[in-house]
Amino acid sequence: MFDLDLFVVGGGSGGVRAARMAAAEGFRVGLAEEYRLGGTCVIRGCVPKKLMVNAADFSDSFADSRGFGWDHDGARFDWQRFRRSKDDEIARLERIYRTNLEVSGVTIHDQRGRLLDAHTVELADGTRKSAKYILIATGGRPHVPDIPGSELAITSNEIFDLERLPEHVLIVGGGYIACEFSGIFNGLGCKVTQFYRGKQILRGFDDDIRSHVSDAMVARGVDLELRTNVTAIRTERGRLEVTDAEGAGTVVDAVVYATGRKPNTRGLGLEECGVALGGNGSVVVDSHSQTAVPSIFAVGDVTDRLNLTPVAIREGAAFVETIFRSNPTEADHHDVPTAVFTRPEIGTVGLTEAEASGKTAIDVYITRFRPLSARIAGREESTMMKLIVDKNTTNVLGVHIVGPGAAEMIQIAGIAVKMRATKDDFDRTVAVHPTAAEELVTMREPTRTA
Ligand code: NDP
Repeated sequence: MFDLDLFVVGGGSGGVRAARMAAAEGFRVGLAEEYRLGGTCVIRGCVPKKLMVNAADFSDSFADSRGFGWDHDGARFDWQRFRRSKDDEIARLERIYRTNLEVSGVTIHDQRGRLLDAHTVELADGTRKSAKYILIATGGRPHVPDIPGSELAITSNEIFDLERLPEHVLIVGGGYIACEFSGIFNGLGCKVTQFYRGKQILRGFDDDIRSHVSDAMVARGVDLELRTNVTAIRTERGRLEVTDAEGAGTVVDAVVYATGRKPNTRGLGLEECGVALGGNGSVVVDSHSQTAVPSIFAVGDVTDRLNLTPVAIREGAAFVETIFRSNPTEADHHDVPTAVFTRPEIGTVGLTEAEASGKTAIDVYITRFRPLSARIAGREESTMMKLIVDKNTTNVLGVHIVGPGAAEMIQIAGIAVKMRATKDDFDRTVAVHPTAAEELVTMREPTRTA
């Protein structure tokens, strides 16, 4: 009696995964996306950001190479050329998303959809589709606080399409996005000032990681100003003058706000259908991603649980397992390894020292060292690794790494943590030499207990 078994609103990581999986099971699936398939991750998030990190990292390679005997005078970065390559790659990935959906048998509607009732979606052109189940996967969008001149600022949405690189950029915020873009612009040769209202960036991460990264960012030339904020922005002879909390002015070429994201729930007809929304507009769901309306589910950033692409994908998959494969499955939000592509980058999984010490007695192992290549390169920056170990069970509760390769290392360390590996398991594992990762299995004495 319904047109479809499933209608998905939103073609990002979570929505696409659920649509493809349900269609692959033989169900009739429709999907509406008003912008570009791939969502924030592919179009204006993780993927273009990582390409920008890659571009910025070449500055380290050029700088370090002299110590290894290389000369490369006159190396210059061409933003326009990079932008074209990046745009081509994003367009290629978007085409793959489209093809994969089509091959799975999903009907794609390149337009906005909104809910009319518990089983009906209305598309922008007025078409109505009824479905047994509706999945909301509309993601989130950057949030800019309302201050005088805030319309002059840009967000991560606009960064990837800048016509030219700003000579001096001010970044506002101290979270993932702010810190990643500070590192990127710094690596690409821009002057970077970063304002953060708190006393240390990256709130929620392990404290040693936060201070290590913040020291390294400052050493690389980021003008990191803590306990400050922007009160107003105005144009000043083609540039932007920013007034800070003390009333001091700074003139820059661009102001980037990275002050958090809000779920995309406005104008979707959700509350009218009985779907409960949280204080920040997020869709309230249970552990099976089901909303207050039994036929409506939601996954990904729109639910504001753990706003990471791979988590949205898992939530989408768990939804299909539960509803279309009769296998009730909850997405697992524990011990999720994650990376922050600051420069130097962070890899982290499990509990921070503060979280763990509030639960049990712990041993904390910390090592700081300059990687082999750094000495020859004349690079002062050190790598840091930290293990949080339960004193009673010797389970490794958390692994935190800052330094080159941290993101790659933490994926593997994440398996060990997920398997509840003990410190003894780490110690029994023979080191891979010469690597930075070997330090993870050669930390013998605790630095402190807590
Ligand atoms: P975050 O929530 O991580 O950080 C927001 C930052 O802005 C915080 O430092 C916050 O300060 C500050 N802030 C908030 N409101 C204001 C305000 N009114 N004035 C000044 N500062 C303010 O958000 P992001 O936008 O950085 O990232 C959003 C999400 O995207 C992340 O939570 C993450 O899940 C995901 N993400 C993941 C990445 C990855 O995996 N590598 C990369 C990028 C994003 P305070 O700490 O005081 O609240």
